[in-house]
Amino acid sequence: MARGDFKRRMEASQRQMLEWARGRNGADELSGACTNVAVALVIVDLFAHTTWLSILALVLLGYSWFRITSKRVGARSLENARVLKATGPIVPFLANPVGALREARAYVHLTCPSCGQRVRIPRGKGKVRITCPKCHARFEGKA
Ligand SMILES: [Zn+2]
Repeated sequence: MARGDFKRRMEASQRQMLEWARGRNGADELSGACTNVAVALVIVDLFAHTTWLSILALVLLGYSWFRITSKRVGARSLENARVLKATGPIVPFLANPVGALREARAYVHLTCPSCGQRVRIPRGKGKVRITCPKCHARFEGKA
């Protein structure tokens, strides 16, 4: 097989994958969290030897795959937003623990007292005066 031939085949399969992914929901926080929890359950089950943990992991993986491949993008992103709102920082942490830890170490999150908007401030700035990006109220905080 010629080298150019291989490259052409790779490009063709990449095009097919992009074509397949078009119009689908793709990975989001909820599907990422389900996948990571499923992997954790499988690891636990390696030692615990229960059947139901593996079945639960399979169900979570199935649900995650359903979310990633779903063509009803509006409905899926609404569900994702609802779960993110209801669970606070838990789902982003489960979806991407390394990124969430890095975020928590680098920034302080403050809440605007007048509208409830969350504002992100780099850690170690000391006492700061903040103008809320949403309602333009001014308040002080420690970062
Ligand atoms: Zn505000």
